[in-house]
Amino acid sequence: MTFEAWLQSRLTAHGFACGPIDGVVGPVTIAAIRAFEASRRLPVDGRADEAVVAALRRSSSRVDPETAAAVENRVVPEAEIQKIALVGDIWPRQSGVPAFYGAVGTRQTKVAMPFEMVLAWSKATRIRSITLHEWVAPSAERVLQTIAALYSASEREALGLNLFGGSLNVRRMRGGSAWSMHAWGIAIDFDPERNQLKWGAPKARLSHPDALPFWKAWETEGWLSLGRVRNYDFMHVQAARL
Ligand SMILES: [Zn+2]
Repeated sequence: MTFEAWLQSRLTAHGFACGPIDGVVGPVTIAAIRAFEASRRLPVDGRADEAVVAALRRSSSRVDPETAAAVENRVVPEAEIQKIALVGDIWPRQSGVPAFYGAVGTRQTKVAMPFEMVLAWSKATRIRSITLHEWVAPSAERVLQTIAALYSASEREALGLNLFGGSLNVRRMRGGSAWSMHAWGIAIDFDPERNQLKWGAPKARLSHPDALPFWKAWETEGWLSLGRVRNYDFMHVQAARL
């Protein structure tokens, strides 16, 4: 086994998916190294230096059996890995999400909310920060700041942008066995009551023209709205393409 293949197999065993273990250190493997470094509080530079190798040798896997099995049985077609590589800083397709972001529920961080927000189903509960995957958090923070500048407080309330419907949530998709994009902390829901899953335009509130600047702010950073492209789930925005 080459050093590169050993590196990939150790990272994968720890739940930091590298795509196929082929001994080729491409963008997905480098992303896995960076995530491993962050998890072990090492300098995050994506290089498999002595500290990384020592940490990989020393540590045992902390991944729960279910996640380990999911990583083990994961099939990411080579073509998808190449697409991830090609798009660089932009988000992967949904099929490439496990390889790109790693195990569900890992590498989460908090983003401070730059405007007033409350929990959609408990409006007395203020939301001061939301939990997101550490790779999408800086992008989400920029978008939320744009939204704070684009709309007044009363406009945000009228649109329901102040009603938080969830971000990180390690669960399966409704009616399916695949993980929801929320399981990686790469999706955010707004005002679920007025944007129910099966509602399209014009019933869903966020399908109305005054929501366009909101969606443009996300789309500028490569985020995707299922409402905008598939006319359902207008509450939801995600850092993954279809
Ligand atoms: Zn959602």
